[in-house]
Amino acid sequence: MVALIDGTSLAARVRARAAEDAAQLAGEGIVPGLAVVLVGEDPASEVYVRSKIRHTVAAGLKSLKHQLPASTTQDALLALVRALNADDQVDGILVQLPLPDHIDSDRVLDTIDPAKDVDGFHPVNVGRLSTGTGGLVPCTPLGCMMLLDTVVENYRGLKAVVIGKSNIVGKPVAMLLLERECTVTVTHIATRNLPDIVRTGDILVVAAGAPGLVRGDWVKPGAIVIDVGINRVPDGARHIIVGDVALGEMGHAHAVTPVPGGVGPMTIACLLTNTVRAARLRRISSA
Ligand code: NAD
Repeated sequence: MVALIDGTSLAARVRARAAEDAAQLAGEGIVPGLAVVLVGEDPASEVYVRSKIRHTVAAGLKSLKHQLPASTTQDALLALVRALNADDQVDGILVQLPLPDHIDSDRVLDTIDPAKDVDGFHPVNVGRLSTGTGGLVPCTPLGCMMLLDTVVENYRGLKAVVIGKSNIVGKPVAMLLLERECTVTVTHIATRNLPDIVRTGDILVVAAGAPGLVRGDWVKPGAIVIDVGINRVPDGARHIIVGDVALGEMGHAHAVTPVPGGVGPMTIACLLTNTVRAARLRRISSA
């Protein structure tokens, strides 16, 4: 029988660990601070930001919220990011995406000090990840690896298939798997014979945003399946959240993450981990 990898309880442990680390830093006079910048009033972004702030405060970190109107100019946003870069109390800067259309998101992300880039999206951190030389790692891929670590004893030589090549999930998770010496295949919307490729994976990470894409007969018996997808689909009169994997068809897999309750809760937990790590690296030179 397939085991469900419980992301809710692992995330609680990761948050508790971040809180312990923050308490230790507080003993040294350092309170890690996370600045969250929200532009406009996108309801989904507001929900994410509220949740990030609640967990940040609960872990004993300092939370600084900057809410700007949707009409904010690019120059004004860049000026705020530069001010946060210069503020010694701020260890992590998170600019909630998506930004309004008139703002160049890449330009904004590139302006964040790489040492405070707790989302791990700055080209310096992307480069460090791809060269295996440290840096801050994007939260969702980091969470995927923590979930995998609960069931994989030895990654070396395993075949990993990633579905999705986004900068936020697919590419960084592929880099992390490569770093563990998996043999990694990255697939995407234009990949031919996707089911045949997926069937070769001992590890499968699915981040496509396509509900129920991965069927039971695509998955090798004994495979470990990480479902990153979050899809809101109609279910009678209401909507439910489902992943990219047909969970009910995974009986022959070794382990699978459910949606909800798998990867989702890990993202905020890893944000706390990254913020405490950024504080330690920046403020304690020997760390
Ligand atoms: P994206 O749209 O940027 O990228 C999707 C990728 O999947 C693309 O590379 C595309 O080529 C590929 N793809 C799409 N449909 C496909 C198909 N039918 N077959 C093969 N490949 C296909 O999305 P993203 O930001 O990487 O997010 C992917 C999913 O993960 C979404 O459902 C998103 O909501 C979810 N997500 C969850 C978390 C979390 O759990 N915290 C974080 C980020 C993203």
